[in-house]
Amino acid sequence: MKLGLVIDLDVCVGCHGCAVSCKQWNTSGMTGALTDYNPYGQDPSGVWFNRIRSYEVGDYPNNKTINFPMSCMHCEQADCVDVCPTGASYKRVEDGIVLVDQDKCMGCNYCSWACPYGARELDRSTGTMKKCTLCLDRIYDERLEEVDRQPSCVITCPAHARHFGDFDDPDSNVSKLVRERGGYQLMPELGYSPTNRYLPPRVTRLIPTEDVSKKSLISSVKEWVNKMVER
Ligand code: SF4
Ligand code: SF4
Repeated sequence: MKLGLVIDLDVCVGCHGCAVSCKQWNTSGMTGALTDYNPYGQDPSGVWFNRIRSYEVGDYPNNKTINFPMSCMHCEQADCVDVCPTGASYKRVEDGIVLVDQDKCMGCNYCSWACPYGARELDRSTGTMKKCTLCLDRIYDERLEEVDRQPSCVITCPAHARHFGDFDDPDSNVSKLVRERGGYQLMPELGYSPTNRYLPPRVTRLIPTEDVSKKSLISSVKEWVNKMVER
């Protein structure tokens, strides 16, 4: 098996619901608490497995915001694993999930330097490295209904922008989505062969902002009628 995520950039609205639900679920999960530093101070920060970056593409007035969620890609050629001096970082043979053994990690940061996707987070309070586990403790929990055996981010996403499945199975939902929508790997030229894929935003007719602000004939007529008719 090769488990991973497909993220649909066409429908992600950048609401951060996936990031928050991930933090909530995994704070009580196998890696332990995901720390917040100075949470009520002027400069709060913390450990997150999932971060949403937003980019503006195109030039005004034909510009568009693309929200880009990023977490561990569970790469096939995971250099983060190869550079780890303690063997704390490892890739599971049975499903391809990349994990960190919290008991072995010494927080040297080598793995985060080796990761080109910024997927690793050093937890300063424990001195250990943390990262997305694909919610290992959900997806194999047979006490849950089958529909709930998915990563927390996938279940939570209100836009249904996230999909989870087995990329080794050509009939899985993720394999079909990648085939049908031209799903792509992020920065394949680096040779890490990430498992996660992104579905590109569909090409739509962009409406220049100036045109949107112009009133339509109907709204101008309605405005005129409202002015003329006493209520
Ligand atoms: S995204 Fe980074 S942390 Fe995750 S497997 Fe790839 S190199 Fe390792
Ligand atoms: S920080 Fe931990 S997991 Fe990363 S390379 Fe060092 S020992 Fe290995």
